Amino acid sequence: MGNPAGPQPTSYPALDIPERILLGPGPSMVHPRVLQAMSTPLVGHLDPKFIEIMDRIQGLLRYAFQTGNPLTIPVSGTGSAAMEAAIANMVEPGDSVLVCINGYFGLRLAEMARRYGADVLTITRPWGEVFTVAEVQQAMQAHPPKVVAIVQAETSTGAQQPLDEIARVVHARSAILIVDAVTSLGGVPVRVDEVGIDVCYSGTQKCLGCPPGLGPITVGPRAEEILSTRSRPVANWYLDLTIVQKYWGKERTYHHTAPISSNFALYEGLRIVAEEGLEARWARHRRNAERLWTGLEALDLTLHIPLSHRLPTLTTVRVPEGVDEAQVRRALLEDFNIEIAGGLGELKGKVWRIGLMGHSSTPENVDLLLNALDRILHSP
Ligand SMILES: *Cc1c(COP(=O)(O)O)cnc(C)c1O
Repeated sequence: MGNPAGPQPTSYPALDIPERILLGPGPSMVHPRVLQAMSTPLVGHLDPKFIEIMDRIQGLLRYAFQTGNPLTIPVSGTGSAAMEAAIANMVEPGDSVLVCINGYFGLRLAEMARRYGADVLTITRPWGEVFTVAEVQQAMQAHPPKVVAIVQAETSTGAQQPLDEIARVVHARSAILIVDAVTSLGGVPVRVDEVGIDVCYSGTQKCLGCPPGLGPITVGPRAEEILSTRSRPVANWYLDLTIVQKYWGKERTYHHTAPISSNFALYEGLRIVAEEGLEARWARHRRNAERLWTGLEALDLTLHIPLSHRLPTLTTVRVPEGVDEAQVRRALLEDFNIEIAGGLGELKGKVWRIGLMGHSSTPENVDLLLNALDRILHSP
């Protein structure tokens, strides 16, 4: 039988995907040991062997987040699913939510909060800048929120939001703090308990060296209290942590089938994080970022974010006058097999975004990129 929608069904070729050097905003390169783990044969999702892996993933995630929070799990879905889980579980219609917006992912948080019926207040900063504690404090005084949400590592701009003191200010007004750590977990310090973050979420495809597919989240005691005293059920059934936690907890009640292979991948990825050690891993991300920054400046390129709040895991570089930014990215991909990204939103057409995340963060990759950029930009 033919295929009414297109070519003969048997004429589709086998997968033929090149091994790219992924230096964009995600996905980053996946460690070979993680790729290997993904091809492990499946077991049932309630098999004692899988349950053992679930427990170990939770233990390793607590290490990665630097927390003792019992409710620490990988949400089934990408970083955005973990973001949505944070909002859906903490917000009820009419709740007031303060979102700090200085880039694309702050906008997404605000959009999600609105969809869950929150009364959303926003404070904004130009893309590339960060918030001061006083700004957050002032916004809270004007209109006390139940939840404050902020992005630690704004992947759209390359700015790193300092978090010291923000949790204290938020808690002083009896609110809780949600932090987006998608481009920071495993790459720059995320200290959930020490900082006092109430809900922190991330994704596997950025600095954890795994493919996209899971969204680690951790929920602290204040946030657990909110969860257990909600006046109505979580509006998103799939991401409802009151039931998902029974699957990851002692009860092991079926909610949805955990993506087994993705969890195998995450387990191996987190083992690698632990073997390297968080401190060493943060230092490696910093060292390779500094190598990149020095090299870019040596090519007469201008970094968009000042050193004081520049993010090591994602660097934004200004596109020089008269250069076709998309053309440069095309040449990098076609002639050098390297992926970087263009700007988003306010920075569209103005910057390139270079990620040095997880397994992609090596001095060799930095040098490959710098040499390629030099050839493309400066060849006669
Ligand atoms: C990538 C990213 C997300 C979304 O993650 P996905 O895996 O693309 O769903 C959320 N927040 C930040 C800061 C990100 O960089």
